Amino acid sequence: MATEVRLDLDGRPIKPMTICMIGAGGFIGSHLCEKILSETAHKILALDVYNDKIRHLLEGESLSWGDRIQFHRINIKHDSRLEGLIKMADLTINLAAICTPADYNTRPLDTIYSNFIDALPVVKYCSENNKRLIHFSTCEVYGKTIGSFLPKDSPLRQDPAYYILKEDASPCIFGSIEKQRWSYACAKQLIERLIYAEGAENGLEFTIVRPFNWIGPRMDFIPGVDGPSEGVPRVLACFSNALLRREPLKLVDGGQSQRTFVYIKDAIEAVLLMIENPGRANGQIFNVGNPHNEVTVRQLAEMMTEVYSKVSGEAPLEVPTIDISSKEFYGEGYDDSDKRIPDMTIINRQLGWNPKTSLWDLLDSTLTYQHNTYAEAIKKVMAKPTAS
Ligand code: NAD
Ligand code: UDP
Repeated sequence: MATEVRLDLDGRPIKPMTICMIGAGGFIGSHLCEKILSETAHKILALDVYNDKIRHLLEGESLSWGDRIQFHRINIKHDSRLEGLIKMADLTINLAAICTPADYNTRPLDTIYSNFIDALPVVKYCSENNKRLIHFSTCEVYGKTIGSFLPKDSPLRQDPAYYILKEDASPCIFGSIEKQRWSYACAKQLIERLIYAEGAENGLEFTIVRPFNWIGPRMDFIPGVDGPSEGVPRVLACFSNALLRREPLKLVDGGQSQRTFVYIKDAIEAVLLMIENPGRANGQIFNVGNPHNEVTVRQLAEMMTEVYSKVSGEAPLEVPTIDISSKEFYGEGYDDSDKRIPDMTIINRQLGWNPKTSLWDLLDSTLTYQHNTYAEAIKKVMAKPTAS
């Protein structure tokens, strides 16, 4: 634990606080818990249905953070302890969600309930009890770029005004209702609007975070090892799984979509700044991403293949990628965001935050983690005879 007094961005000492973190057992939650426990004096009430990813923070009496983290196994859909825990805390951070694209078109009801209905009591309890809320939304609320509707050869496609995503100016553009992919984005948009309205009408102190493809260790699961064999995680885990098994990486609809990837450890720095600078973060919606790390999904596959070969010492496959249609990969109702570059003006101005890690470096450390964590387990799984 840090013993020196921490100062906020305006030079004032930061008082230790109690944070109710919902979804603390997930990918982002696990990194946020680690950061808070190792660098601050804040206490965490960690709520989740699972705790595998934070078990290392909960076990062992000798841990230097002692009793500053308390795990509560709670499903926020139906648990009367939720309001009491929010009341005990100074700040609530809500990370709980279904947030894997493979679920959006195949489990649209669960997706909408999880991202909208289940978040409602959290907003209500914060508002009624005058507690601050940091709510995790998504860059997906922007949907498609304006530029994606222009003719393929239009020079306007090169103009940033047609693709840079700005919190206070860009529209939210989703596909038609039968494209159920957008169930997630739409539910997230509505909860953002509700939180914003609670701020405007009832004085709720809130911050909304829009993550742009945060990636790193502990993201999702490797199918058949620490998650279901038939499960489809987000792209980092899908590609890691293929590399570990020495199978070609599947490029959905040719891998032409573009993404910007930010290293989880850079992004967590931004969240800590929001936690500790309420005067600068309240009432704001923040893009959190790395505009310099843009690639097509195809380029990501090529880079991950190269980095993994270096990390594992194994030569890449002769045919490292294969194309697959979105219908075959995700099923009916899938659609995609074409391009996601965050405008950084607001987060720069309010918090002075900038990402540091290049795509190559973040893939290097993440794939080293994946190799060390999963390579042996995958060999064992693959050696088992399959039932005929
Ligand atoms: P994650 O799936 O790893 O974590 C979510 C956690 O919430 C899980 O541990 C899950 O068990 C928990 N949870 C879900 N429903 C719950 C319930 N009813 N009760 C209690 N716990 C519940 O996902 P993540 O990547 O850590 O994402 C966290 C948040 O950030 C989500 O709201 C997601 O929509 C948002 N987000 C993340 C990214 C990213 O790049 N990782 C991008 C956009 C948005
Ligand atoms: N994708 C892919 N192959 C995979 C998994 C994902 O080509 O094995 C693509 C997917 O269609 C999307 C991008 O990779 O264009 C990023 O997918 P992810 O699941 O990480 O979530 P998203 O960024 O769309 O929210």
